[in-house]
Amino acid sequence: MDDRRPISSGRRVAPPGHCRSLAGMNCPNCGAAMYLEQGQESLHCSYCTYAHALSANSDGVRLLPGEVADVACPVCRIKLQRAIAGSHELLCCPGCQGVLVAMGQFMKVVRRLRVKARTAADPFPAPAASELGRCIDCPQCGGRMNTYAYGGPGNIVIDNCPRCALNWLDHRELERVVTAPDASPNAAAWATPDTKGISARGFEGEDKVA
Ligand SMILES: [Zn+2]
Ligand SMILES: [Zn+2]
Ligand SMILES: [Zn+2]
Repeated sequence: MDDRRPISSGRRVAPPGHCRSLAGMNCPNCGAAMYLEQGQESLHCSYCTYAHALSANSDGVRLLPGEVADVACPVCRIKLQRAIAGSHELLCCPGCQGVLVAMGQFMKVVRRLRVKARTAADPFPAPAASELGRCIDCPQCGGRMNTYAYGGPGNIVIDNCPRCALNWLDHRELERVVTAPDASPNAAAWATPDTKGISARGFEGEDKVA
């Protein structure tokens, strides 16, 4: 599967175009830049054979060490950190572990994580009404995010900025979407104009395209 595993001797230079070096972490062995190869979940040294595994939280999100983003968590206000989930990039709060993900990436992340995830035995309960009352501001534009019951799997409340095309999910919400046994519970009842594009229908539609 990984035919580009570092060999045990000799210099191994990261091939251009398939990886990128990360300023955030240097190899503890030799000091060279560590890089993330596309589709992988560990960092590799650009010079020696050292590999650094990125551990995942329950959402399947892996923080990239030292990769601090320019935007702050809308809940705890600390800087978000770059992260990967299902080989796709997103931003994650190192405090509350909420994630900021581009709408265009969201379904791709869910699909990739689903491949390895164990499906929950029972559907998740509907969110408490109080969850819909929380208001947060978009980390990118500062505008008030839309908060609504997500029409797809998992029975979560999602926050969305249509201007920036960004979704905010609190910790464990991504896990719920990924592991939910029911693909589109209550979708019709929950569909609102704001959910177009990421409604249950969109979810299923994109699944078929892939
Ligand atoms: Zn090294
Ligand atoms: Zn936070
Ligand atoms: Zn925004």
